[in-house]
Amino acid sequence: MITTTNITELRKIRATLPAPVGLVPTMGYLHEGHLSLVRRASQECRSVIVSIFVNPTQFGPNEDFARYPRDIPQDLQLLEKENVDVVWTPTPEIMYPSGFQTWVSVEEITKTLEGKMRPGHFRGVTTIVSKLFNATQPNRAYFGQKDAQQALVIRQMTEDLNFPVEIVICPTIREPDGLAMSSRNVYLNPAERKAATVLWRALYTARQAYENGERNAKTLREIMLDILNKEPLAQVQYVSCADIHTLLEWEDQIQGMALLSMAVLIGKTRLIDNIVLGGTLSQ
Ligand code: AMP
Repeated sequence: MITTTNITELRKIRATLPAPVGLVPTMGYLHEGHLSLVRRASQECRSVIVSIFVNPTQFGPNEDFARYPRDIPQDLQLLEKENVDVVWTPTPEIMYPSGFQTWVSVEEITKTLEGKMRPGHFRGVTTIVSKLFNATQPNRAYFGQKDAQQALVIRQMTEDLNFPVEIVICPTIREPDGLAMSSRNVYLNPAERKAATVLWRALYTARQAYENGERNAKTLREIMLDILNKEPLAQVQYVSCADIHTLLEWEDQIQGMALLSMAVLIGKTRLIDNIVLGGTLSQ
């Protein structure tokens, strides 16, 4: 496994890698969710590149960029075991040298959900992913359904800008009690960790209602809200039942595939989760 920070060196190594090349972009502090993407990439690609970069431009001014968990030595140990070929760990100075002034932004589907709550977030995401794609020239790139809107935004960008990259969306990996794995779960104290299962309980209960025939979007949102509101440590930011294509709320009956999603503060920690009804996002 080769580790580098430098873009020129990365390009030289990339030129020697057998195709297809798979890229797994991450912000590090790796867990089984990330590793599931790496394993999928290893199964489908002859070479695997993992990038680790906590991207400052996707964090808002009052968000957790400075205290976002980081542990590169442990990440490298985990990746070594997965037979990754290259780990790219650029610095903010490499990705955003002084004078940087070019941005990539996707319009309509970044206006709702996470995009609405976190202004500028997706502009940071699409800009950095464009830069990662340009530097690593992957044939395939792997993203988690855990960040469903992010995956859809990147798929849109890839199509719109004709990046020759296949976007693969992988299922959300959960703890045994249903909590979606996330680097941010480390922020939770024991009481909050217990309370955090409420996101999955809300999604699961709404899915059961859907499976029993419920198609009214407002009812599904209410089912989730009722459960979330019963948890004293939870403060709901949004609960959504949206059209998977436009990410606009279904008003009455769901007509096709729906993305059920939510953002919830558990104490001071902001958690997101989602499921898809009527089909799958992940392959
Ligand atoms: P992050 O390091 O949080 O930026 O995540 C890097 C990639 O891993 C993104 O594509 C995420 O959607 C994905 N990911 C994060 N958590 C999970 C999870 N629990 N299951 C599957 N994929 C995940």
